[in-house]
Amino acid sequence: MGKVLIIGAGGVGTVVVNKVAQNADVFAEIILASRTVSKCEAIAADVKKRTGVTIQTAQVDADIVPELVTLFNKYKPELVVNVALPYQDLTIMDACLECGVNYLDTANYEPKDEAHFEYSWQWAYKDKFEKAGLTAILGCGFDPGVTSIYTAYAAKHHFDEIHYLDIVDCNAGDHGKAFATNFNPEINIREVSQRGKYYENGQWVETEPHEIHKPLNYPGIGPKESYVIYHEELESLVKNFPTIKRARFWMTFGQEYLTHLRVIQNIGMARIDEVEYNGVKIVPIQFLKAVLPNPGELGEKYTGETSIGCRIKGVKDGKEKTYYVYNNCKHQDAYKETGAQGVSYTTGVPAMIGAMMFMKGIWKQPGVYNVEEFNPDPFMDMLNKHGLPWHEIQGADLEL
Ligand code: NDP
Repeated sequence: MGKVLIIGAGGVGTVVVNKVAQNADVFAEIILASRTVSKCEAIAADVKKRTGVTIQTAQVDADIVPELVTLFNKYKPELVVNVALPYQDLTIMDACLECGVNYLDTANYEPKDEAHFEYSWQWAYKDKFEKAGLTAILGCGFDPGVTSIYTAYAAKHHFDEIHYLDIVDCNAGDHGKAFATNFNPEINIREVSQRGKYYENGQWVETEPHEIHKPLNYPGIGPKESYVIYHEELESLVKNFPTIKRARFWMTFGQEYLTHLRVIQNIGMARIDEVEYNGVKIVPIQFLKAVLPNPGELGEKYTGETSIGCRIKGVKDGKEKTYYVYNNCKHQDAYKETGAQGVSYTTGVPAMIGAMMFMKGIWKQPGVYNVEEFNPDPFMDMLNKHGLPWHEIQGADLEL
């Protein structure tokens, strides 16, 4: 039994709080803090209705370490689950070190003024967390997160050497809007509009945005055009599984989505630098976020499902083999259970399971770790029990 503090009251935060409340035998006390406290209060009221569990709420600006320190000292949580934005990762980790609190997140640090994300900033905290006897668990959503754990599970049980890893992420949902992003628009647009990048033979190969694409068949869904984009788990996976010769990440996009994205970029609305408008400084992509649909409110009309998995080729007992492990998640099921859509659900459930792994002492190890560095078996078991069951296909044609 432990006390958990969740930071961030968006779509993912909504799911984490719901799932943590459903497991009150593990989480003795639950606090939700975010920049806008009214959002925390609305989630707490909804969760009370759904589960009967009381959630405490608090206001915090997680960009400001002293504010975090005051919050942590007031509530004294054992673990902070950071589901605010990647910009806040380092300030929250600093506050954790100052107050002796353990840490978990779902996305790696990004500076606000540079659309660039890599683990180096957070890996640099390894010694400090180790010396403080604190655990930091990085990237515990679906991708990164479950995809990394799938890879670790495959390496442990199905392969002597993994050679080719293709992570495939399909959202075959329909939210009924001309254009909307499935999680924070600013983070999402920065991620999908950058140049493509994948790993091959010890090197990173760069491509134009969305240059490499092909239709892939997703279980229960069918063929969907899929595009190679850079995704953060590739960086830690090729380091932690050095037999990998090639690692790529594929994501599906509809033509309508890509057309909107191109227009947004061409007219300058994806800019992340400040411009002056009527004497006020604004960042175009932040203004765009204010007028786009709120991803947290897409759930009610969202139909269809996601399908995310790992397609792996390698060697076992001297023989080549293929392995595909995946989960499909229906947006409507996620909405009925938590009030949030499938993308928030597939991120929030693993964050809760990671927190549970820590609270039970299974993933408790001083230092800073990506999730694939822990034992995948108990986590895989919990995925089946908490709403994200997985399926495996041996010897499948991977199409790649
Ligand atoms: P939202 O934008 O819906 O929610 C973010 C929340 O963080 C909001 O409540 C926001 O507050 C709060 N916040 C932002 N800045 C601060 C701050 N300075 N101090 C305190 N609170 C702050 O995002 P999502 O819920 O969609 O995503 C949350 C995280 O999950 C992101 O980091 C995203 O990258 C990650 N993610 C990971 C995935 C994975 O599979 N690993 C997939 C999808 C998302 P306010 O309401 O005031 O704006």
